[in-house]
Amino acid sequence: MLNRTVMTGAAPSIVLLVVLLMTGVVGVGEGVTVIALIIAGAVWTARRTETLTPVPPAETPVDTEPVERRILDELPDPVILLSASRNIISANQAARKLFNITEMGRDLTIALRHPAVLDAVDLSLAGSTPDPVEFELVAGVPVTFEVQVAAVPRPNDEDGVRVVVLLHDVTGTKRVDEVRADFVANVSHELRSPLAALAGFIETLSGPAKDDPAAREKFLGIMNNEAQRMTRLIEDLLSLSRVEANEHIRPEDEVELETVIGEVVDTYSNRCTESGNSIDVDLPDDLPSVLGDHDQLSQVFQNLIDNALKYGGPGKPVRVTASPVERLPESGTHGVAVSVQDQGDGIPTDHIPRLTERFYRVDKARSRGLGGTGLGLAIVKHIVSRHRGHILIESTPESGSTFTVTVPTFSQDPQDLSDR
Ligand code: ADP
Repeated sequence: MLNRTVMTGAAPSIVLLVVLLMTGVVGVGEGVTVIALIIAGAVWTARRTETLTPVPPAETPVDTEPVERRILDELPDPVILLSASRNIISANQAARKLFNITEMGRDLTIALRHPAVLDAVDLSLAGSTPDPVEFELVAGVPVTFEVQVAAVPRPNDEDGVRVVVLLHDVTGTKRVDEVRADFVANVSHELRSPLAALAGFIETLSGPAKDDPAAREKFLGIMNNEAQRMTRLIEDLLSLSRVEANEHIRPEDEVELETVIGEVVDTYSNRCTESGNSIDVDLPDDLPSVLGDHDQLSQVFQNLIDNALKYGGPGKPVRVTASPVERLPESGTHGVAVSVQDQGDGIPTDHIPRLTERFYRVDKARSRGLGGTGLGLAIVKHIVSRHRGHILIESTPESGSTFTVTVPTFSQDPQDLSDR
């Protein structure tokens, strides 16, 4: 391009010079010098022009439609494009799969018949902006979608308008909202009962039982229990929120499970003496240390042993055993499994999968009567998950339950750590 510009710019001057040379007006030496100057000037001018005038990019014809289609197909959310007569013009892969759309050009009802969605489409075709609509698709596991419908006017198209229907799966978000609402309701309920009891006794003590020392003694004892129950509940709620806050950060310390379990068992010695229980600890001598957080692991065994004593019943032994595990499914590394076994009534099988949910209790009154908050196993689950381990609950009605917690072993090998 530069050469052509240079030659175009210099050509008239060169032609004139050649004529002057041929007619003898200019000598040969002078002529050559002048030609060199003309070409240099033309080069300079051409370069300058080039920097001042942006060169338009080369136009490569691009067929954009397949690209758009591919992008739409990659979207996890179903998208359907409709004509003004509500026929399906196009549907991305997610929509085709979800509604089994094999043919274009058919009415939307062939895929989606929900009245609220059809109303939104009709409103949109009539020029309004409909609010998002929610609908539940029940095919196996129910899935809730939020559907947004928007008209895309096409003035140059004989069809006039097109409507885009976008579906977004909000099942997870709705579940989180429900869990949050349930949690707040549960906490309020759990705090309201002891508070109501306290308020009632305060009223009785300042009124009818004012001058009754025996009643005062009895009521103060109950009030003390209720106050302790609220304290335990608040402590457990704080523990749960602390555990959840750092669940994504992996513990890094080397922890000797033998020490942790020994410390926890010691704290129960007085209680065992009173209730006639025993805690038998049977750990192998060469139990490897684990990668963990000492205080959190201590809380795990405290909650499990506490439950085993509570639900195992007075006079029944609790057994704590441990063994190495070759390969943990969660981390792919070696691990240690610790089991806490009681000889209580056991747990009906259908309750087992829900035991680690917050406030889930097989028998609410029994749990409350034994001082339970319904949060112990939820705390255990979150701590174990932070340790990249797992919890297994096995129970045989009438003969007892075994709670087994598995955590990865400690390793000095950095490769091992990064793999986990
Ligand atoms: P709680 O404070 O009620 O004990 P947890 O979260 O520790 O709460 O346990 C949830 C429920 O699981 C308990 O209410 C009880 O019904 C059941 N559970 C836990 N451990 C045992 C056990 N060792 N034996 C029988 N049931 C148990």
